[in-house]
Amino acid sequence: MRLGSRAARARRSAFGPSVVSAAMSSGNGARSDGHEAQAHDVVVVGAGFAGMYMLHKLRDLGFDAVVVERADDVGGTWYWNRYPGARCDVESMQYSYSFDPELEQEWEWSERYSGQPEILRYANHVADKYDLRRDIRFETTVTAVDWDDDARQWHLQTDRGPYRARFVVMATGCLSTANVPQFEGAETFEGPTYHTGRWPHEGVDFDGKSVAVIGTGSSAVQAIPVIAAECRELTVFQRTPNYSVPARNQPLDPIEKADWKANYRELRARMVTEPAAMVLRLPGSEDLAKEASDDEFARRMEQRWAVGGFTFYRAYGDIALDAESNDRVAEFVRRKIAEVVHDPEVAAKLTPHNTIACKRPCLDTHYYETFNEPHVNLVDVSATPIERISPAGVVVDGTEYPVDAIVYATGFDAMTGTLLRMNITGRGGVRLADHWDAGPRTYLGLGVAGFPNMFTVSGPGSPSVLTNMIPSIEQHVDWIARCLVDLRERSTTVIEAEPDAEAYWVDHVNAVADLTLYPTCNSWYLGANIPGKTRVFMPLPGFPPYVEICEDVASDNYRGFALA
Ligand code: NAP
Repeated sequence: MRLGSRAARARRSAFGPSVVSAAMSSGNGARSDGHEAQAHDVVVVGAGFAGMYMLHKLRDLGFDAVVVERADDVGGTWYWNRYPGARCDVESMQYSYSFDPELEQEWEWSERYSGQPEILRYANHVADKYDLRRDIRFETTVTAVDWDDDARQWHLQTDRGPYRARFVVMATGCLSTANVPQFEGAETFEGPTYHTGRWPHEGVDFDGKSVAVIGTGSSAVQAIPVIAAECRELTVFQRTPNYSVPARNQPLDPIEKADWKANYRELRARMVTEPAAMVLRLPGSEDLAKEASDDEFARRMEQRWAVGGFTFYRAYGDIALDAESNDRVAEFVRRKIAEVVHDPEVAAKLTPHNTIACKRPCLDTHYYETFNEPHVNLVDVSATPIERISPAGVVVDGTEYPVDAIVYATGFDAMTGTLLRMNITGRGGVRLADHWDAGPRTYLGLGVAGFPNMFTVSGPGSPSVLTNMIPSIEQHVDWIARCLVDLRERSTTVIEAEPDAEAYWVDHVNAVADLTLYPTCNSWYLGANIPGKTRVFMPLPGFPPYVEICEDVASDNYRGFALA
């Protein structure tokens, strides 16, 4: 094991001493609370999959890095989202790190799609294997991040004292700030309430209870069948019906697993050439759905429905691009809902009429079937929104639905929420909140003009949430690590996105998104789920070309970044 040498290298700061007393640091480390500022080359915020790999990589390269994390352990998304049925809908052999062949050979996934407990065990295994926890400061929440132009470093305030660093890496996740709608009377509810993204660690017992679930996004689609199986009565409050395709989860076939392990290098290389950074069970097709004969269309869609998973959405090449083709595929799912759901009135309520897959596609296990259960009720709140929460339940259009517990499956302030809540202030005292007033602005989703030496892993403007997140994270972490090594070798201390490059990139992301049907729905991709949030399409469609652009920028002396 090479931990000893890594530890030694990690302690030797690449940019200066590791811990600097505020009293000795010409004022730059001193903060108003009088605490000693811990100084590091790099402070990474977040100990999910991005932060863990960033720390491992930086240590290996001899940087003095520390991670601050508000939870009491690693895992990020998979630490917080412990709701019943939580599961990744990217297949487990692909939703894992690729950076260490030993890791991918030794870890055993048990199902086609891993459940949250197994993914969290994997995160813990990674933390143990690479001894990451000794450089992670848990239960530490960042409250302010300020750029100091004189000292060319960042000051971070946390609820456990200050830090300073030449570089900060925001590994804060895309879906890490819960959205809890401000319903009138919510605080008067007499039973327990839960948000799917903040689920209690000790678990929740719904046995014999009457439960409300508010929302029908990916989290709810997974949670509803599992909660329904446990509780006495379930009432689902649906604002927008959702398309969902069967996941077809099952125990992982040992032959398939062995095959992946035997060919991991080749398959990992293939994954990053695919549009969503994952290899599908059936190859993606470039055929046009609108041109297929009825027989051919039905045969192909039935086959993909039976196979399950995201392969369904790659049956034709124009599903995300052409309204007519998209509606043909949507109609196929609508007919499936009508076949599965017995009560035509309930089926009609569950049937979406918007563009398919312009919101994040859902994969399910018995979602629509659950609404055939006699103890499961569906309340459509599209025309008459939830009026208020009463002490006894949920009130819609003057009718009170009494429940013992409320589950908010109401999503997240995605992509920007966590970053903006950290009170980040860049060059000249400009707040990130002001710079992003009209929507997030980044260059490559990696850097922000006016915010030197700050990197975002899977930030807005990068493919991130439109891909398998772990390969996207690895690509960003590798790029950032290469950049820091290049800067060190050139004795360059500051890198900053140029305003022109940032403006070009924002236009580029919008132009690419406008070629697709994505902007046609009120999705969280657009910020449309948060009242008052500026509507801008935040992720960049198109993973493989993006990777090439990033490579090209780095090779061309970080074109579009100013180096000082
Ligand atoms: P979401 O997709 O944003 O869904 C939130 C739901 O709450 C929507 O149905 C929304 O309705 C509803 N809602 C929000 N405010 C409401 C209000 N005031 N009144 C009534 N309904 C309201 O959130 P999510 O389900 O947590 O999923 C977020 C993302 O996390 C997913 O898109 C996915 O990227 C990720 N995720 C992945 C997995 C996986 O890998 N399997 C699982 C879960 C989540 P509207 O549609 O009308 O806004």
